[in-house]
Amino acid sequence: MTVPDFVVDNVDKSPVITRFITRFAPSPTGLLHRGHAFSALLAWRLARGSGGRFLLRIEDIDTTRCRPAFETAIKADLAWLGLDWDGPVWRQSQRSAIYAAALARLVEMGVAYPCFCTRADIAAAAGAPHGPDGPVYPGTCRGLDAAARVARLATQQPAWRLDVAAALARTGPLRWHDHDAGWQPADPQMLGDIVIARRDVGTAYALAVVVDDAAQGVTDVVRGRDLFEATHSQRLLQALLGLPTPRYHHHPLILDSDGRRLAKRSAAETLAAWREAGRSPAEVIASLPL
Ligand code: GLU
Repeated sequence: MTVPDFVVDNVDKSPVITRFITRFAPSPTGLLHRGHAFSALLAWRLARGSGGRFLLRIEDIDTTRCRPAFETAIKADLAWLGLDWDGPVWRQSQRSAIYAAALARLVEMGVAYPCFCTRADIAAAAGAPHGPDGPVYPGTCRGLDAAARVARLATQQPAWRLDVAAALARTGPLRWHDHDAGWQPADPQMLGDIVIARRDVGTAYALAVVVDDAAQGVTDVVRGRDLFEATHSQRLLQALLGLPTPRYHHHPLILDSDGRRLAKRSAAETLAAWREAGRSPAEVIASLPL
């Protein structure tokens, strides 16, 4: 991808951006594969080609699955590919108080509610509508009355969900821009009342990512097409929290030789495996649809 030769007027009417601040934001739950290399390279080139900044953020809120050894491996893989990053590495596990404050604001606005449902409850809910990532939450706990909520909060640690209808009533219609797909009307109902704070870790990907993209001044989010739909809810969270909206570049996913999307478990496709097999960074880069 080359640096775009046009400038999109940004959603929030901020001044035109010419030095792009991009980030690579992996979760250290496994080894990087060629799909990650593709994301990181695109983001790095966009930043370096415009005299901007390329940031590395470790998205390690899920303490049960993240391992420091994978963070070390991520840095080694990026260095092997020749990708350097600017400034200190951010770690989401060190920012829980900031996410808790953002959640508290949403609760205060009346756009978040506690949810006591288990995965099994949600799967069992009859006729639960399906979104691109599986069943959409049917809204069971949205309807709990105040007394029931207080009683359950006294004994149970809840997850917190975004009340999308209440949130949209506050913000009105929203849009966001994707470099390839153009302007998108935000449709957060597609994913429904997403979790914004998990029961076990006190925050969730959607909330942490919008808070951090804004806190780091990210102008351009470069990531895989698998997160395209998630952007609708992220746009809504930005509007609620008064955060600027970056531009988005959702790139095609890298597939294996059987046409399946790479996953962290595809051991043969990890960058470490390519390196151990004696292949060069140039070969990895040449294998990507750049
Ligand atoms: N941490 C996410 C992942 O590893 C990426 C988040 C993003 O780029 O917005 O899939």
